Amino acid sequence: MNRPYPWRCDECGNKAVQQTVIEHRAQVKHENALHEVYVPDLPVHQCNHCKAVTVGEEADARIREALRKQLGLLSPTTIPTAGCIRATRREPASSPGLARLARKRACGKDLRGIARA
Ligand SMILES: [Zn+2]
Repeated sequence: MNRPYPWRCDECGNKAVQQTVIEHRAQVKHENALHEVYVPDLPVHQCNHCKAVTVGEEADARIREALRKQLGLLSPTTIPTAGCIRATRREPASSPGLARLARKRACGKDLRGIARA
């Protein structure tokens, strides 16, 4: 799990992937409403060579935590950690498309139900 950095980049093949944080706004669906969640320090992996960004479970957990704070929900243990949340996307960090970075795939097990749990 904790391989030493830098990692090899899936995009360009260079061994230049480091852990970093980016400023990110994610759109998360909760209770049939779309919430914009601002994460000033989203943990991601970024290639220093081609700037490809990879998000994983860590980033997803961070977004959920931010949403929870935003909505005033208290219990972190009620957050489902289904496999569907680890959508991995790679986009150039400079691209406007970064806003779509952590958009979730619909899988029926997203953030619905947290408030009722
Ligand atoms: Zn790369």
